[in-house]
This record gives sequence, C-alpha cells and structure tokens, in this order.
Amino acid sequence: GLGLTGAMVYSIYSLRHPEEQFEPSPDKKTLVILGTGWGAVSLLKKLDTENYNVVVVSPRNYFLFTPLLPSCTTGLIEHRSIMEPIRNILRQKKATVKFFEAEATKIDYEKRIVHISDDSEIKGDISDTEVPFDMLVIGVGAENATFGIPGVRENSCFLKEVNDAQNIRKRVMDCVETAMFKDQTEDEVKRLLHMVVVGGGPTGVEFAGELKDFFNDDLKKWIPEIQDNFHVTLVEALPNVLPMFSKQLIDYTESTFKEEEITIRTKTMVKNVTDKYIEAQVTNPDGSKSIEKIPYGLLVWATGNAVRPVIRDLMGQIPAQKDSRRGLAVNEYLVVNGAENIWAVGDCAITNYAPTAQVAGQEGAFLARLFNTMAKTDAIEKELQHLSDTQSQAKSNDERNQILDEIRERQKQLRRTKQIGPFQYSHQGSLAYIGKERAVADISWLSGNIASGGTLTYLFWRSAYLSMCFSSRNRVLVAFDWIKARLFGRDVSR
Ligand code: NAD
Repeated sequence: GLGLTGAMVYSIYSLRHPEEQFEPSPDKKTLVILGTGWGAVSLLKKLDTENYNVVVVSPRNYFLFTPLLPSCTTGLIEHRSIMEPIRNILRQKKATVKFFEAEATKIDYEKRIVHISDDSEIKGDISDTEVPFDMLVIGVGAENATFGIPGVRENSCFLKEVNDAQNIRKRVMDCVETAMFKDQTEDEVKRLLHMVVVGGGPTGVEFAGELKDFFNDDLKKWIPEIQDNFHVTLVEALPNVLPMFSKQLIDYTESTFKEEEITIRTKTMVKNVTDKYIEAQVTNPDGSKSIEKIPYGLLVWATGNAVRPVIRDLMGQIPAQKDSRRGLAVNEYLVVNGAENIWAVGDCAITNYAPTAQVAGQEGAFLARLFNTMAKTDAIEKELQHLSDTQSQAKSNDERNQILDEIRERQKQLRRTKQIGPFQYSHQGSLAYIGKERAVADISWLSGNIASGGTLTYLFWRSAYLSMCFSSRNRVLVAFDWIKARLFGRDVSR
C-alpha cells in the first residue's frame, strides 16, 4: 500500500518539479514567439526548446480552445475548462522558456526588436520595454472585422475571447430579467428577448444553435413567461449561410434552423447599429433594396477577421508587403515576404487556406519541425568543420581514412535533414455544431460530405472536439461540464 502511494506521490512530485533546466545561453539564437493561440502553442509543443533561447510574448497567459467557446456563452461549458495555462505547457519543455504577459505593440523589423507593453490591470515600475530577436514567429491572430460600420464596437458583443463569452452569458440573462421587469411594455419585452446574430459563418451559426438549445433545454422551463417572445435571428449579407460548406450541408443547416425556429435573414446587410436596433439593407426577391430597422436586446457580431494594427504597421515597414491587404504575405516556408528571419502563422498570415484553427495548428507544427531541423543541420555542420580540421592533422593513413568515413556519414546525415519540404496543409475536414444535437461535417478524405443529424454526428462532433483538446486535464473538465449540464441543466444566474 505504502509503496504504491509513495510511487504516486513521487510521480506527481516529479511532474510538478521538473529536472534542472538549462539557462539562456549567449551561443544560441534568440527565438521570440508572439502569441499563445493555435499557431504559437502548437509550435511550442513540438519545438526542441534546448536549441534556442525561446521567449514567448502574449497578452493572454493561457491557450484557449476556441471551438468550444460558443458553448461558454450559455454556461454549458465553464470557460476555465477550455483554458490551458501557458505556464503548464512551458514547464513541460526540456529547456527554460521565458514568458512575458504583454502585448506586442510594435515590431521593428530592421532593428530586430519587438516593443512590448504590459496591458494588464496591475503594472510594475516597468510596463513598456523591448525584446530583441534573432528569429521571430508572429502568431498574434486577427481582430474582429467591423468594416467601419457605425455603432458596432459600442453596442455589440464579439465572440473571440473568454471575456466575450462571459459578456454574452451575462447579457442574455440581463435581457431576460429586464424583460420580466414589472410593468414592462409588450414591445419592449419583444425587443429585449430578440437575440440577433450578425454573420452567417460558422461562428454565427454555432452561437445561434447553442443559444436556441439554451432556451429549449433550460430557459423556457425555468422562466415560462418568455416562451412566446424569445427569438433568435441570424443575419447574413450573402444569399446563404456557411458558404464554405457544400450545398447539401447548407440546406441541412437551413432546414434544421427552421425546425429550431431560428430565423435566417439572408441578403440582409447591416449598415448601422444603435443601442436598440440595427439598420440593414435588405435585397428583396424582386431585386429591389430597402432599409429595415430590426430591434434587438442582444447583438452578437460575428463577421470574420480584420488585420491587427501591429501587423498593419509591420506591413508598412516592408516594401514586399505593399500589395498585401488581409495580412502578412508569406512564402511556402511561412517566411514573411521581404523579411528574413521572420515567420508568420495562423490568422495574421495570408496563405491559400481559410483562417482556421486547423490551419494555424499545422503551420505551428511545421515551423517546429523546420526549426528543429535547422538546429540539427547547424550541429552537423559544426561537427563536419571539426572533423576536417582533425583530418588535416591526422598522423597515419589509417586515421585519415577513418575520419574520412565519418565525414561521409555526416554529409549523408546533412543531406537527409536538409530535405524539409515546404508547408503543406492537410485538410482533416470541417465540423460545425448547428444546435438540436446536430452537427454538419464535411470529411472529404473519408467519404465525401457527411450531413447527418441525431445522436451519431453529434457524438462524432463531441468526440472529435474532445480529442482535439490540448491536455487530458481539459478533456476531463469539458466532459464533466457536459455531464453536469445533462444532470442539472445550465446555470441561469447572471
Ligand atoms: P466568416 O468570415 O466565416 O463569416 C462572416 C460572415 O459575415 C460572412 O458570411 C459575411 O458575408 C457576413 N457579413 C459580413 N459583413 C456583414 C454585414 N454587414 N451584415 C451581414 N452579414 C455580414 O467569419 P467566422 O464565422 O467568424 O469565421 C472566421 C474563420 O474561422 C473562418 O475561416 C471559419 O471557417 C473559421 N471557423 C471555423 C469554425 C468551425 O470549423 N467549426 C468555427 C468558427 C470559425
């Protein structure tokens, strides 16, 4: 009994207290990684950190499993369950990695310096400084697109970060409780209970589905008075939602939304937002256009990505980026065009692929392989240099031949390691939850398009997302949240 307990205590201890770690060294290159999202973290996970002095800078000291963020807006999943502390990831690395919780405010490409700023509430004497780099990986993602439409920033909720999901969760309950306020007028009740989602991409669709689930599973049971007036509307400028999916899957989504009584307003482009209604340009069936006011209680804005200012500024410093609009143009090795020693991954880089978690993750893993190989190549080249020096001083023929053999062996190794091809994305499929325990999946490598509802696709969606989770800790937390909601319903406190 004691032996087993001892072994368990020891293994937990050694997990929490890793072996002696290496110190930053002057003969290693400094590799600075900006971001703690899909691209940066998958790079970190696979990188042999002992080859570089690795520095990570991000305003967020955790990785966020974004595919389950829509579930946090209704309390189905607690936000902490999909956060993974970056310190947890870093302490598992062989060599020390420095982490600074800060925002990169400017990248000085010529001086090879990143300006960083502590943007958290508590600041020390120093909150702005510089981090020099030999190599830089930019994985800072994108910001929410508003297209300069007036009122969007002031009045709507986005769905990108943890606090966005928390905001939405609070706001939904605030709308419901305010609608139930004594003597509230009928029009005002209708407005407050109108949940409007702008943007018919996967973010908007998944959120609309989750919100309607919340209403059907819990809200309407706990507060039956809202039953007739609680509505979810999805607004999309294009003729259909989910343009990245096939026609069949789009039809399936639209018919599921009909059953769920989620209204889809396509060909409706939002032009202006006030605190109580949106103004949209509607293209009528006869082709004419009209402006319509749509009152709302909650407005969620999910119209995709825009370039972050720090990236726009860097693009301005590099002539080769002059024609790039949507982000940093990179070559097939993810090197930022026109900037030696700078790489970009994820939503801030422009590739031939959609800005998804899957793409960013694979790009990060590719860079890890590239950097590990570069370090190995350097090491072999150094050995080769050393070998040829000793060969010239060799006394006997025998000795000389022996060294020659070794040189040939090293050269072979070098050729092998240098053979790293360009980045190639391998699409594992797209998956989106659409509510009512249904998901759409396009898993082209398996069997073309799969569009199915019911328990099977739903279970597939759940297990796929669980297996994509970064740590077993998150897996357990998410699974418990699902069970908890099944047993007790979601928590409707504000
Ligand atoms: P998106 O760019 O995919 O969709 C935004 C939608 O908003 C577009 O259809 C656009 O026509 C519409 N829109 C823009 N301006 C509008 C306006 N003024 N009025 C009305 N509609 C307007 O954005 P997203 O859904 O946030 O997705 C971003 C990226 O992340 C995509 O590449 C997506 O594939 C990926 N993603 C994938 C998943 C998944 O696989 N489950 C989930 C979320 C996001």
